[in-house]
Amino acid sequence: MQTIDENGQYHGAVATPIFQTSLFAQPDFETFTKVHQKERENFVYSRGVNPTVRALEIKLATLERAEECKCFASGMGAISATMLTLLQQGDHVLFLNTIYGPTRQLLDFLHRYGVSYDHSNPVKSDIERDIKPNTKVIYLESPSTNLMDVADLKAISTLAKQHNIVTVIDNTWSTPLFQKPLEFGIDLVLHSLTKYIGGHSDLIGGAVAGNRKTIDRIFEEGFLLTGSVLSPNDAFLVLRGLSTLPVRMKQHWENAKDVIAYLLHQPEVEHIFHPSQATGETKKIVQNQMKGFSGLLSFSIRDASFEDVRTFINAFTLFKIGVSWGGYESLVIAPIRENNAEKLRSENIPPGLIRLSIGLEGSALQINDLNKGFNALRNR
Ligand SMILES: *Cc1c(COP(=O)(O)O)cnc(C)c1O
Repeated sequence: MQTIDENGQYHGAVATPIFQTSLFAQPDFETFTKVHQKERENFVYSRGVNPTVRALEIKLATLERAEECKCFASGMGAISATMLTLLQQGDHVLFLNTIYGPTRQLLDFLHRYGVSYDHSNPVKSDIERDIKPNTKVIYLESPSTNLMDVADLKAISTLAKQHNIVTVIDNTWSTPLFQKPLEFGIDLVLHSLTKYIGGHSDLIGGAVAGNRKTIDRIFEEGFLLTGSVLSPNDAFLVLRGLSTLPVRMKQHWENAKDVIAYLLHQPEVEHIFHPSQATGETKKIVQNQMKGFSGLLSFSIRDASFEDVRTFINAFTLFKIGVSWGGYESLVIAPIRENNAEKLRSENIPPGLIRLSIGLEGSALQINDLNKGFNALRNR
């Protein structure tokens, strides 16, 4: 009888079947004792390897040009398991660019286990100054998901190799379609599958991809011990999302391009944060390492107060107000609160920053909504 193969094929089913099972019974006791030794390579228990999840891992590894991939219950599950595996007491992490808040909080938490971290700028002289003898990991986001900063992946991986430091990138903004960091010498690539890869705001998932030795270690240590398991059902939804990823990404960018062109003509807009707007050296880096753009962007409204931002956002009817991004629906969010403008400025974040996740509804509708925002601001 035919069983599932490496590509998730089962009786010729074109959609990967959902193996909704917690365990896999073995034909005899000898087989059981053998497979139980090697959970990584066998279907034993779905906290280890499950065929539906495995089919997704193989696809993601292929997309990232990685030897191996491991999926998790969330992006944070992947990030936590990776950090817990790579780090030990006394180690130091160097963050480049603005880092997703909970990732930074994870490192604050690891302080109690003797792990420390610093922030640096993604330029050679600054990194060289900030590397310590105990720096074990350089962790970056490029583009980041707040100010969309970009870092030179090749330069950073080259520098890190000279110091025997592991490089880890959160590649969620680009998806593997627009940036393959391993090709530029980065060691490990992380994704929140919750965003574009899932693409429909109906699941939470994460992944890490890299060389087999490291991913196997992450499997044995960070993954099995944290138990941050992607369910077969959610793996199926991610597989379904992957099959339309190219067309969705194309349309997210088409819409975002129109929105950016519109924003460039609004007198209140101070700056647009998106890699398509990069100039000078950064533009060269973008052209060298990215093959396209997604639809997550920010812009700053000049001299905006909390009341201005509130007025602007509350005028929207299409853009929904909420965290996360990368789904069908357009979303808006802003970092300003009633009393944090000074704190934001000290972190180089403009108080009037607005972040948009440009969805698939169409740019005419999105621009119409932004117009409502600017009109409300002008009538204030
Ligand atoms: C959302 C997000 C994460 C965390 O992913 P979850 O699936 O929500 O745990 C990590 N990095 C970035 C850049 C994100 O946007």
